[in-house]
Amino acid sequence: MNADLIVSGGEVLDPGAGLTGRLDIAIRNGRVVDVAADLASRYQGTLLDVSGAFVFPGLVDIHTHCYWGGTCVGLRPDPFSSTTGVTTWIDAGSAGAWNLAGFRELIIERSQARVRAFVNISGIGLTASAPFTHELDNMSYCNQGALRRVLDAHNDIVVGIKVRMGNRANGIEPLRLALETAEAAHLPVMVHIGDTPPDVTEIFALLRPGDIVTHCYHDKGMRLVSDSGVVLEQALDARERGILFDVGHGRTDFSWRVAEALLAQGFVPDVISSDISWVSVGAPNVDLPTSMTKFLHLGLSISDILRCVTDRAASAVRLAEDVGTLRPGARADLAVFRIAEGSFPLRDSMGEERIATRAFQHQLTIIRGQPLAPVRTDPPPPYIENSADILSARPGMSAN
Ligand SMILES: [Zn+2]
Repeated sequence: MNADLIVSGGEVLDPGAGLTGRLDIAIRNGRVVDVAADLASRYQGTLLDVSGAFVFPGLVDIHTHCYWGGTCVGLRPDPFSSTTGVTTWIDAGSAGAWNLAGFRELIIERSQARVRAFVNISGIGLTASAPFTHELDNMSYCNQGALRRVLDAHNDIVVGIKVRMGNRANGIEPLRLALETAEAAHLPVMVHIGDTPPDVTEIFALLRPGDIVTHCYHDKGMRLVSDSGVVLEQALDARERGILFDVGHGRTDFSWRVAEALLAQGFVPDVISSDISWVSVGAPNVDLPTSMTKFLHLGLSISDILRCVTDRAASAVRLAEDVGTLRPGARADLAVFRIAEGSFPLRDSMGEERIATRAFQHQLTIIRGQPLAPVRTDPPPPYIENSADILSARPGMSAN
């Protein structure tokens, strides 16, 4: 039998599909056609030897900001796919009703990675989001009629509606509008939690099963532990009702102490995401493998972590048939990693450090059966203050 590519000799790990062990993967026309031992003897095609490395499904990052050129903090996905193994990028609300068409044409249609969007409840999206301004400063930006029509026109690229709840968000109303529109369009809502008001009690009471709470380990007003470090009843109730909790590490949204307290009480993430953007990728140096390594340090197993960035992440955005899995028929998106041993200092958003002894180390990204060569990135935009630090922290990322 013929294959375009046979990825051979690696340690396959796809806990969502129950695939584990020394297996080969045969790929044809951008799809996985077979996963089994010794396929090199049964298929003819280009052989890629990845002996000694892990082969994971391509990673699915459900909280990213990749509207480069259309929003102030967005970066292009492909350069970061080539260094992180992220093959499916879900943008979390960079585009709103009034600029989603640009996101489609400039980013989705021009990227090798698969890109999809949570659309912002605010029509302007994150055009000039924090730290510069706020998309909910003016409630007239939340035009439900416009959003409904845009959702109809672009339902093939939209996975949900994003709303940022915090003390600049004009109370609970934007969440109410997001849920109303999402309900009519049969979509989930991703809600950012930040500084109070409103209170998480008020927010969680409105959410439906399948809605996603992002930034669940931050140390802001809406933190999910009490002052004495006990997980909030409201968070446990929400989880019980099927609401999903996502890491969304980002620049300001991950605290070692909060994560340690929550994990000690069994409050593990449903999904691990990076919230990667030009303001998070430098300090605290966030990309998805870094976020995954932090959870390895916190005691999750490699399999548990993988489920949070493959099949469970894909299910949360209803793409599980196609991505986040190596099952035959799925897109041939693969991430080749090693687990490095050594001493890896890792800071949280407050600058607090832990030293991990193991780290996810990216080797290669394959998208639709094609190994992705390193892709040069643009430099960070000139208004990003620490752009020099960002480039020096990422030596593979030399600017054009
Ligand atoms: Zn974000």
